[in-house]
Amino acid sequence: MKDKTYFPIIISSPSGGGKSSVCDEILDRCDDVIYSVSYTTRPPRETEKDGVDYHFISEKRFMEMVNNGQFIEWANVHNFYYGTSLQVVKDCLKNKKHVLMDLDTEGTKQLLKKMPETLSVFLFPPSMKELEDRLRNRNTDNEETIKIRLVNARKEFADAWIYDIFLINDNLEEVIQKIIKKIKIKSSN
Ligand code: ADP
Ligand code: 5GP
Repeated sequence: MKDKTYFPIIISSPSGGGKSSVCDEILDRCDDVIYSVSYTTRPPRETEKDGVDYHFISEKRFMEMVNNGQFIEWANVHNFYYGTSLQVVKDCLKNKKHVLMDLDTEGTKQLLKKMPETLSVFLFPPSMKELEDRLRNRNTDNEETIKIRLVNARKEFADAWIYDIFLINDNLEEVIQKIIKKIKIKSSN
């Protein structure tokens, strides 16, 4: 039997599109998937923990890491910097694990150039109204932030064609099952 292959998995969507919900479930259900905790200059939200949701760092430290070549990809998203550790990606794959990342579309373009074997998934909300409702109901962002995120959502949709799969995140359970099935098929090809 052919050995399983391991690759990065990117989940993208506009803010509020369901990336965190989907990633959490994939991690719960698949023991060969590890989450790559990104570095960011964004301040933590009330519920977020350093080292778990993100590594929260200063802009100075972020730029040092950029200059030291420590990010496999990085981008400025909604006025803050976000980046993925090159070392974490290398270590996961070396240890025969898929490495799961929550990236914006700019970061995805950079990663796909370097690692074309990546499985990339873009989640669409069922509608703009539903996206707005989910952002408001999540209760994590103020009005100004929600407005910026809704404007950015339309720009992000324009990049959806670069992904392997796009799914409408209407029924969360169906979306999760489709992604897990894709991971399994690609791993054994
Ligand atoms: P993101 O990580 O992309 O910003 P979240 O996973 O935080 O998005 O989802 C935004 C909000 O929408 C959360 O409150 C989440 O519980 C909710 N949500 C996600 N997917 C669905 C879905 N399919 N149906 C209803 N609510 C959802
Ligand atoms: P949030 O601040 O809501 O957690 O994330 C904002 C945006 O940053 C989302 O689109 C998310 O996908 C993106 N993001 C999170 N981590 C990274 C990363 O390491 N690199 C890139 N390029 N984008 C990221």
